[in-house]
Amino acid sequence: MTAPLIDPFARPISYLRVSVTDRCDFRCVYCMAENMTFLPKAELLTLEELDRLCSAFIRLGVHKLRITGGEPLVRRDILTFFRGMSRHLDSGALRELTLTTNGSQLARFAGDLAAAGVRRINVSLDTLDEKKFAEVTRWGRLPQVLKGIDAAQAAGLRVKINAVALKGFNEDELFALVDWCAARDMDLTFIEVMPMGDLGGEDRLDQYWPLRDLRARLAERFTLTDLAERSGGPARYVRLEETGQKIGFITPLTHNFCESCNRVRLTCTGELYMCLGQEDMADLRAPLRASPNDSEVEAAIRAAIARKPKGHDFDYSRQRVDGQVSRHMSHTGG
Ligand code: SAM
Ligand code: SF4
Repeated sequence: MTAPLIDPFARPISYLRVSVTDRCDFRCVYCMAENMTFLPKAELLTLEELDRLCSAFIRLGVHKLRITGGEPLVRRDILTFFRGMSRHLDSGALRELTLTTNGSQLARFAGDLAAAGVRRINVSLDTLDEKKFAEVTRWGRLPQVLKGIDAAQAAGLRVKINAVALKGFNEDELFALVDWCAARDMDLTFIEVMPMGDLGGEDRLDQYWPLRDLRARLAERFTLTDLAERSGGPARYVRLEETGQKIGFITPLTHNFCESCNRVRLTCTGELYMCLGQEDMADLRAPLRASPNDSEVEAAIRAAIARKPKGHDFDYSRQRVDGQVSRHMSHTGG
C-alpha cells in the first residue's frame, strides 16, 4: 500500500486546493488589477495533466479536492475534469469534490456539476447591492450571480456564501447578508481581506475590517455560541442561537490554525505551494511532463511535503501591502 502524505510536523495532508486557471470574468478590486496579463496557454497544465496530478495526490491519501482559480468555471471544458474526478468519488478514494466560484457561470453548469458528484459549493458574494457589486467586481453583474445561485440550489447543491469583509463597503450589509442567507438556508462565512500581490497602488489596508469587530457587531443582535468544529484551515464557526445559522470567520492572517493544517495548494501551472503565507513552492509540472510514468511526480510530491513549513508569516503591523507575499489570490486560488 502507498504510504500517505505526512509532513515533518506529523500533519497528514488530506486536502488539495487546485487552481485550474488564472483567468477570470471578474476583476475584484482586492484580487486583481483591471489590466491583468494572463499566462500563455503552454504554461498551463492541460486537463489531462490536472487529472494525472490530482489522481496522484488522491493515491497518496488526499480525500478532499477543492477546485478554484481564477474563476474555475471559465476554464474551457472544465466539466471534463470534474467528470474525470468523479471516478475517484465512485471508488471512495475521494470523499469530497467541491469548488469555489464567483457564481457567474453556475446557471449553465450547476446541473452537470451535481451530476459529476459535487455536493457543496462556495460562492463568493460580498454585497447584495447591484451597484456596489459592479463596483467591487468591476466586471461582474449581480443578477447573473443570483441566477447562478438559484440554479445551484435547484440542482440540489448546498451553497455556502463567502463574503470578504471590507470596511466602509459592506459593513452596513452585515445583517442583510445574514438574513438573506438564513432565508435561503445557506451558510455564510466572512473572510478578512489579505494583502496579496501588487494591485497598482490600491491600498487595501484602508479596507481592512478585522473580523473581531465584525463579530462584536453580530453579537449586538445575536447570541453567538462558538462551535468546536475546525476544518484544518483558517475558519472558525459560531452558531447564532436565535436563527440556528452557522457563521464562519476566516482570518488567514492569524497563526492559530497552522498546527492542524491539512492542506496544500496547486496552481494552474503545476506549482505546489505548501503554505499560503510563504513563497516556497515545488514545481510538479517538470516531473509530470518528464515521464508518462507517475513515479517521478509522486517522488516530487513527497519531497515537497517534506518541506512543508510549520506556519506562515503574514503581518499587517509591518504595513506592507505591496507584495510581502507577491502572489495574487487568483494564482494560488485563495
Ligand atoms: N473566482 C472564484 C471566487 O471568487 O470564488 C475563486 C477564486 S477567488 C481567488 C477565491 C476566494 O478568494 C474568493 O472568495 C475571494 O473573495 C477571495 N479573495 C480574493 N482576494 C482576496 C484577498 N485579497 N483577501 C481575502 N480574500 C480574497
Ligand atoms: Fe475573479 Fe474570484 Fe478574484 Fe474575483 S476573487 S477577481 S471572482 S478570482
